[in-house]
Amino acid sequence: MEAESYPVLADEVDVKMLMKLEKDATTSVSEIGKLLGMSRQLATFHYKKHLIERKLIEGYEIFVMRYADSEATMVLFLISFPDYERFARFARSLLDKFFVITMGKVLGKNALILEVFLSTTEFRKFVGALSGLARMKLVRSYEYAVQDFAVKRRQTISGEYFKDGSWIYDHENHLETLKQRVSNSICQANDGLHD
Ligand SMILES: [Zn+2]
Repeated sequence: MEAESYPVLADEVDVKMLMKLEKDATTSVSEIGKLLGMSRQLATFHYKKHLIERKLIEGYEIFVMRYADSEATMVLFLISFPDYERFARFARSLLDKFFVITMGKVLGKNALILEVFLSTTEFRKFVGALSGLARMKLVRSYEYAVQDFAVKRRQTISGEYFKDGSWIYDHENHLETLKQRVSNSICQANDGLHD
């Protein structure tokens, strides 16, 4: 089952170190120390005692594109389930699947965020299977977004939003800004069509 809340196990140094590693996972601890203006000893301490022992880093992954760009799609799904049991069963069934890139539970909901990398044919089959599950009421609803490799960017919440041991990130506000930007760029694209 899900925890009521998640304790913040990191301090500001840890978050800054994670940001450097996220940019380039091959950066050595002493290099990170230099970049952040602290001694190698102190950097090593935070790395070993906090990042590793508290499992703030669980491991590294190498991602290899399996298909030529033209015939593959990277798709982000948001799938909602009627209850926790059905959510868990579905998530478990995906654990050993090669096409799953990332998977995570939506906090406080029986919903799954799923990123998959599939050939166009496999993608159609997957959506077909989801529709089938929805008809059988094993899935409540699903939506998906096909990612465009040409403009794809991703980032975890930036370390600047970590102050005095907690996150000061304003989710609602951030979403509003994003929605505004999307509708602006849609307007611009439409204007472009009339030129
Ligand atoms: Zn630390």
